Amino acid sequence: MTAPHTGGCRCGAVRFEASAEPHHISYCHCSDCRRASGAPVSAFVGFMAEQVALDGKALKRFENGPVTRSFCGICGSPIAYTDERLANQIYFMLGAMDMPAYFRPTLHAHVREQLPFLHMPDDLPRHLRTSVPRPDRQRPDGQRPDGTQS
Ligand SMILES: [Zn+2]
Ligand SMILES: [Zn+2]
Repeated sequence: MTAPHTGGCRCGAVRFEASAEPHHISYCHCSDCRRASGAPVSAFVGFMAEQVALDGKALKRFENGPVTRSFCGICGSPIAYTDERLANQIYFMLGAMDMPAYFRPTLHAHVREQLPFLHMPDDLPRHLRTSVPRPDRQRPDGQRPDGTQS
């Protein structure tokens, strides 16, 4: 199967289409995704935003710091995650894709927060925290949070 890749919410009011292959497919074990999804682990399919067409009339957004999560305002299905530190990228919930079996995750992120009873016996790379580096947020004195000079 090749692009375009389509997806949407449970009721069909939100639909999207990506014209290219994803650049990122991962599991996320963080507690924020857990709250947002209600599931013990989330999975995401990342595309470049300019490759995505999103029919957003029913879309609602919840902003939390740099992170915005979107969901269907009618049926409540979680749809996507964006982070202003990751410009031009959009991460769709894997379960929102029409053909989810095509998008095999390649890594686990935030395994420090993985639930102790959740066992996923694969050989994928496991990142203790994020798998996608965010740019350092510099402090006004030019020092990075770890104390090194930029
Ligand atoms: Zn819906
Ligand atoms: Zn997460």
